[in-house]
Amino acid sequence: KWDALLEDLQKYIPTHSYTSWFLPLQPVSANEQVLRISAPNRFHSEYVEMHYRDVLKKCIKTVFGKDLLVQFTIAENLQQDISSEKSTPGPSPRPTVTERSDRENLPPQEYYVEDRYSQLNGRYTFETFVEGPHNQFAKVASRAVAEAPGNTAFNPLLIYGGTGLGKTHLLQAIGHYARTRNPNRRVIYVSSEKFMVDFITAIRNNRLNEFGNIYRKADLLLVDDIQFLESREGTQEQFFHTFNDLYQRGKQIVITSDRTPKELKGVEERLISRFLSGLTVDIQPPDFESRIAILQKKADMDQVAIPPEVIEFVAQNITTNVRELEGAMTRIFAYSSLAHTDVTINLAKKVIKDILGVRKTRHISIDIIQSAVSDYYKVTENELMGKGRKREVALARQVIMFLSREISGMSLKTIGLRLGRRDHTTVMHACNVIGKKIRENKEFAREIDAIRHQIDLTAG
Ligand code: ADP
Ligand code: MG
Repeated sequence: KWDALLEDLQKYIPTHSYTSWFLPLQPVSANEQVLRISAPNRFHSEYVEMHYRDVLKKCIKTVFGKDLLVQFTIAENLQQDISSEKSTPGPSPRPTVTERSDRENLPPQEYYVEDRYSQLNGRYTFETFVEGPHNQFAKVASRAVAEAPGNTAFNPLLIYGGTGLGKTHLLQAIGHYARTRNPNRRVIYVSSEKFMVDFITAIRNNRLNEFGNIYRKADLLLVDDIQFLESREGTQEQFFHTFNDLYQRGKQIVITSDRTPKELKGVEERLISRFLSGLTVDIQPPDFESRIAILQKKADMDQVAIPPEVIEFVAQNITTNVRELEGAMTRIFAYSSLAHTDVTINLAKKVIKDILGVRKTRHISIDIIQSAVSDYYKVTENELMGKGRKREVALARQVIMFLSREISGMSLKTIGLRLGRRDHTTVMHACNVIGKKIRENKEFAREIDAIRHQIDLTAG
């Protein structure tokens, strides 16, 4: 029956995915209720469960004539390619539970390494990463590194960009990809915070050697959020040694940061210059089309149908952070399924208001907004504050009001007063006009994005 199942699966799954994900699986046993399948590792089984649950279910029904519960067994535990540990976990359908009980029997090194690897999120792959002008270069470089770790000029590769723009996603995609191409490759993913905590624990327990050895085994070391090491001299020192050791042996290192290497304050010069010796790539906030594509992809992955006007609405309103974009979609699904209502623009409005409301706490002054807008439209402060009705000036004023409302969350009245307008209805009118124009005019929506971006940069 297994062969029949595989055959059926091939009808629905693209060949390359089928080859990567289903060929490595082996049938273990089947009874009336349960089909047991062995997968090469935990990540593999999680990935299959996450991405192919529905199609697997459907094919099982076709082939076996009924629904069976699928349980995965981990065939070759991760340690096999990472160290010499040979234990195989029991055939538990719940990997997290197995994981915990395994760990108690493992010597510390294995535990560390496995722990790191298992932190790779099954969703963070190149397949699920939407490419656009804002991240293209970063994506191409990451892909190249994942194809040939240590064998490109991009060593180290440093990816920087603001929060929620996909750095962790890309970093983990490199790990997944490199492992899928060659399962024997030792991939270590670690946030620099975890690196530090483990380092301190190792010192305390007199296990510094072991700590060092763990990282020495990596073929590909992925270090997330390096900015965390700012002002942590001891950890930086240790990281410097780890870095040099790997680098000299031609191992690949990839690092992410939320700012450029030069902006990393309190990180030693010698470390910065190491970072700069490879390739540095940035990720920018996504443009309007990319936001649409990301939302669409998410809807497809979650297998929910969202009306295109709702997708557009979200993309027009949430502009600077992919995590927020996704968050908005998740909330919209949740509201609609809890309330048993359709996904409509009105529902989306409500959700977005909640999300943008939270931003009120972010402190960006109206001066920053004002100077970004007047730069953009090339109007002077005097013109802005005056009563003149020149078109650009009037537009710039309205945009300032709109963005002040959106970004700083100040009251209509305060905004009005700041701009020398006593009447808050002027501000309200401006917000409506600009909001409408953003929704109706993509070109204009892009202009506003550019200004928002400038404001973000200035505000830091
Ligand atoms: P960062 O590490 O830069 O703060 P993350 O990698 O955690 O950001 O990304 C935040 C969320 O946005 C994640 O769920 C990620 O999958 C998603 N995301 C970011 N960029 C993209 C993209 N280009 N395509 C698809 N999803 C993305
Ligand atoms: Mg991150």
